[in-house]
Amino acid sequence: MRWEPVDKTPQERAEANLKAYESSCREFSWDVARDALDGLPGGGVNIAHEAVDRHRGTPLADAPALRWLAAAGDVTTLTYAELATLSNRFAHVLRDLGVRRGERVCLLLGRTPELYIACLGAWKAGCVVVPLFSAFGPEPVRQRLEISGATTLITTVDHYRRKIAANRAVLPALRHVLVTDAGIDDPQVDDTVGLTLAMALVEDEFPIVRTGPEDPALLHFTSGTTGMPKGAVHVHGAVLAHRVTARYALDLRPGDIFWCTADPGWVTGMTYGVIAPLMLGVTLISDEAEFDAQRWYDILTAERVSVWYTAPTALRMLMRRGDELPAGTDLSCLRFVASVGEPLNPEAVVWGKRVLGHAVHDNWWQTETGAIMIANLAAEQIRPGSMGRPLPGIEATILRRGRDGRAAITDGQVEYAQAGEVGELALRTGWPSMFRGYWNEPEKYARAFAAGWYLSGDLARRDSDGYYWFVGRADDVIKSAGHLIGPFEVESVLMAHPAVAEAGVIGTPDPVAGELVKAFVQLRPGRDASQELYDDIIAFGRRQLGAVAPKQIVFTDALPHTRSGKVMRRLLKARDRGLPEGDISTLESAQ
Ligand code: ATP
Ligand code: MG
Repeated sequence: MRWEPVDKTPQERAEANLKAYESSCREFSWDVARDALDGLPGGGVNIAHEAVDRHRGTPLADAPALRWLAAAGDVTTLTYAELATLSNRFAHVLRDLGVRRGERVCLLLGRTPELYIACLGAWKAGCVVVPLFSAFGPEPVRQRLEISGATTLITTVDHYRRKIAANRAVLPALRHVLVTDAGIDDPQVDDTVGLTLAMALVEDEFPIVRTGPEDPALLHFTSGTTGMPKGAVHVHGAVLAHRVTARYALDLRPGDIFWCTADPGWVTGMTYGVIAPLMLGVTLISDEAEFDAQRWYDILTAERVSVWYTAPTALRMLMRRGDELPAGTDLSCLRFVASVGEPLNPEAVVWGKRVLGHAVHDNWWQTETGAIMIANLAAEQIRPGSMGRPLPGIEATILRRGRDGRAAITDGQVEYAQAGEVGELALRTGWPSMFRGYWNEPEKYARAFAAGWYLSGDLARRDSDGYYWFVGRADDVIKSAGHLIGPFEVESVLMAHPAVAEAGVIGTPDPVAGELVKAFVQLRPGRDASQELYDDIIAFGRRQLGAVAPKQIVFTDALPHTRSGKVMRRLLKARDRGLPEGDISTLESAQ
């Protein structure tokens, strides 16, 4: 199936932050880019200083930093100056409790202002922030508290009672639990400290702990799509990559109103939903509520969102609701739309152009990379289905695969794939936001590198113009009758069928072919499963894909997703084969 490239207008090219891709890549240097950081007075670097304190005393101080949309409908605005002061107060509270630099401070909070205040305050106190997704149940929370050895947890009374209280005895490291919703007259609910009162008793000024670029700032757990979540460690110096990539890949500019729909419990929601936009002085939208198509279109309009960063699942859900819903919506403030987290099917890129007025810019990165690495750019042609090209300062390559499907490593050396050849996507080590470890798993960390490259575990190919095309995770790739089949390609084609809303594709064991392509298909509302539709989708797949088309289709009401919105193919596979489901702590519970 051929999708026409989406070209940019001369105006789009002229206004973009990154205008000349090739020459910028040649000339870029992280050392030069570092001049854009402010640095702590007297030396050192701290994310919270770069995000908020550096704007104190500038015209930005009174500008809205955060517009918080409560689920109930009211809107709270915090200025940069207010965010700076409140996070100072939070840092005092930690220090008064005796929480010291390097200690892990876990956040188990919905998208509320306290979440932003707490992470900034914890960085000011020199602590390592461990963001947890607030919909996790007691077991995943206990697991992550235990693994991280967190000494402090910020949460709500309800979360505490439902998810933590019963496990407190088995978490000896956890000394303090601060709750955000205890009233000022309520200093102590159960075994917790009320944050409202504690914050009222401390000063507005706090000298930021002098952290250096290599001091840990974040411990982020991965999505658990392929197995047990891993804890990736990130340092304060990563903030340089946050800044550069948000300017280049999200095209953020002063005055922008920016909505990143990812929850700060995931790396996207923390890096681009908190840190990078604040550094760049834009206004951040934070919506407490869960996905709702009408609400989302209303937010884009009412908040006059100019840059929108979302995910393929969300876009697919909007597409499923049809084009009528946004027909009366004023999206004239929107300038740039980007997506991450999963492969973005070409259909969605083009839908964006038609319905939102802007093609969707896919970009690729991982918890481990700490920032966007490969992206479709504001000034460049989009090739629908491609993740784009590596950002300036990032060197990517495709490594030839060995028998296990990952990069072949012989005596510490690797081989490079030709243009068009599928191999493991790898990145030259040394960019500022590269993870510095898997928490407590040094061997796993060491195995992620070879010959100066970080091995991503994703398979991709690069075309002769340097655009990268995602094929699949090494674990998900299907080997059928000598073909190597990436599930994404098959899913994208199926989703172009008018009756298909979403598809998840796996290999199912077959004595002759090794594996057969099997598709789990969720139909659009109003379409019912029937033998006729089954035959039609099979035939559609065969016409488009030939030999790699699915041989078998299973209609399903819903596909299993991780809480960060990714199709969990390993679960489809385990269920298909009758095998144990493995770790499902990040499975969306509705599935
Ligand atoms: P785990 O490592 O625990 O299995 P995960 O890899 O899903 O979980 P994340 O770090 O949140 O955890 O996700 C990164 C992965 O998401 C990438 O390695 C890739 O497989 C997928 N991904 C991210 N962006 C894209 C994209 N634009 N296109 C295709 N895949 C993407
Ligand atoms: Mg991963």
